[in-house]
Amino acid sequence: MTTPRPLIAGNWKMNGLAASLDEARAVAAALDAHPVGARVALCPPATLVERMAQVLAGTGVAIGGQDCRAEAGGAFTGDISAEMLAEAGASLVILGHSERRAGHGETDSDVAAKVAGALRAGLEPIVCVGETLEQRQAGQALAVVTGQLRGSLPAALADADFAVAYEPVWAIGSGLTPSLAEIEEVHVAARATLVELFGAAGARVPILYGGSVKPSNARDILAVKDVGGALVGGASLKAADFLGIINAA
Ligand code: PEP
Repeated sequence: MTTPRPLIAGNWKMNGLAASLDEARAVAAALDAHPVGARVALCPPATLVERMAQVLAGTGVAIGGQDCRAEAGGAFTGDISAEMLAEAGASLVILGHSERRAGHGETDSDVAAKVAGALRAGLEPIVCVGETLEQRQAGQALAVVTGQLRGSLPAALADADFAVAYEPVWAIGSGLTPSLAEIEEVHVAARATLVELFGAAGARVPILYGGSVKPSNARDILAVKDVGGALVGGASLKAADFLGIINAA
């Protein structure tokens, strides 16, 4: 069984106006000049998905959304469906990011419904899970992460391409990361849960690590057992930083 290529995905969050497309162009140009083994994706704000897809058409960089609604369409002011993201040129979508779970009250079952919506539209979901600092300090990290996986991953994923991202909430944007042993402990537990849920297919699902990944720590983190890539926030906004991480994969 071949090991899937690592996936390095950039989450621009609510950052980026049209001028930022130059950073995306620079990433694509560098990868064109020096191809890498990793799969690379950029997830800009929804306003830039279509333009980024046009700018990066024909390059090796895939485009993703940062969220979608579960329904295909309807009276949901301000929301966006997976079908709309797909039509705009996205091939992936981040779902269940902790900023959505905390800031928008998304539950595991909300995330599972969104995952089903993404699959309906042909998008590859990147499903985020991770514990808060209080949960880690209470010794609950493994239970929280495996519980979120069980609740957020519908059975329909058995036949689909998808990725999981382990993102400790306290590591996001803080400059803090768990130790390599702590990352390994969670990724190994997440792998066991994926195999329990999806059998042999679960052994091949990329489990990304996310939370303050930067060029200086990427190589060590990406070498940890069962780490199959990275979900990168702040360091994906500048081409040089993002390329530093991609080249560490
Ligand atoms: C994220 O928000 O998905 C993330 C990992 O952010 P950062 O890399 O900035 O910690």
